[in-house]
Amino acid sequence: MPSKKSMVCVMNELFNQPILEELFNSRSEELSHKIIKNSKEYKKLINDMEHKIKQLLNYVPGNMYEEIEREIKYIGKGGPLYKSVLPIKEKIEIKTSMETRDYVEEFNHMPVKDADYIIQKYSDRVLVIITDICFAHCQYCFRTYNLSTFQQSNMKETIKNKIEVLKKYLNEHEEIKEVILSGGDPISIGYDNLKYVLEELKEYNIRIHTRSIVYEPYAITPDIINIMKKYNVRLVFHINHPYEIDNVVKEKINKIDNNGIRMYAQFPLIRGINDNAKVLKILLEKMDELNIRPLSIFIADPIAYSAVFRISLKRIIEIINEVNWTSPSWINSVRFTMDTTIGKVRIENIIEWKEKHIVFSREGKKVDYYDLDDGIDEPTPLEKLLWKTN
Ligand code: SF4
Repeated sequence: MPSKKSMVCVMNELFNQPILEELFNSRSEELSHKIIKNSKEYKKLINDMEHKIKQLLNYVPGNMYEEIEREIKYIGKGGPLYKSVLPIKEKIEIKTSMETRDYVEEFNHMPVKDADYIIQKYSDRVLVIITDICFAHCQYCFRTYNLSTFQQSNMKETIKNKIEVLKKYLNEHEEIKEVILSGGDPISIGYDNLKYVLEELKEYNIRIHTRSIVYEPYAITPDIINIMKKYNVRLVFHINHPYEIDNVVKEKINKIDNNGIRMYAQFPLIRGINDNAKVLKILLEKMDELNIRPLSIFIADPIAYSAVFRISLKRIIEIINEVNWTSPSWINSVRFTMDTTIGKVRIENIIEWKEKHIVFSREGKKVDYYDLDDGIDEPTPLEKLLWKTN
């Protein structure tokens, strides 16, 4: 079985290339963009991509692999499960204006010098990137830049150092009540490391954000469930599509639920994966049946190579309205929100909208958002998103 690190390695080989850097920097200049796309290097990259995608398919975690194979058989490549975890050519080819490397400016919210794993946007809570390893590589991940370095054999020591620095910061900031363990995937650090982290942080409310439930449900072992129960962890799942909840996933969620662990969910709204109110409603209903409380559906940030995943704001509002007005409150209580430099904002926070330029405001602060260029957003046909009902 190839290691989970291999997936990020192949992704890096593919995306950390000078030609792509050049392409990204040329995005606002139509002419240079065209020149680069006609270059030999670019054409070679597109050719290589086909080969790399085959390689990546071998690294998709077992639980998802079979479903993706089935999906390919029914609707070909690029379906909702495929698109979430494997690169497609359009990711490089489609461009829109005003994308940026780090829209939420995480680097400006790192309160401790040289500790790029501590992120704080709100006074009462702090987020810790406890690991940069994930069980697979979500193609739309806004933290892709951070998943390019690995903790190798010294993971234990790295985590210990991170916790020491974090505790020092927490001791100096009594107003912080909650620590959010994020990543990478915190479940990937394994039982011993997780036990250490939870014991060290037992005075705080702890939240764990994980997509392991979809990628590697077996990684949430009985020991991990017990330790999460002991320290009263809030577990926040990242599940994008109803087909990600298969029998194995359901069984694991039931086990976690039977242990009284509070389960929540938040996930992104992504074109080609779940960009239809019907899909969202099925997903939210499934979550409700499993006692998972959905918190937020995130509007995708305008980061590099995100155009293929984003949805126009007009259509996002249509989707929100459809979910809101055609479902009971136990479904539509979920919030549609977007992470920005001024914190989370919602549609209600829009104070200006001139063509593609939108301004959100929160607590007296403003942030600019640029909608997708025209002609990019095509609603995904429902029969592609829900191919099993074909
Ligand atoms: S699991 Fe989370 S951190 Fe990891 S690649 Fe997916 S979205 Fe990014």
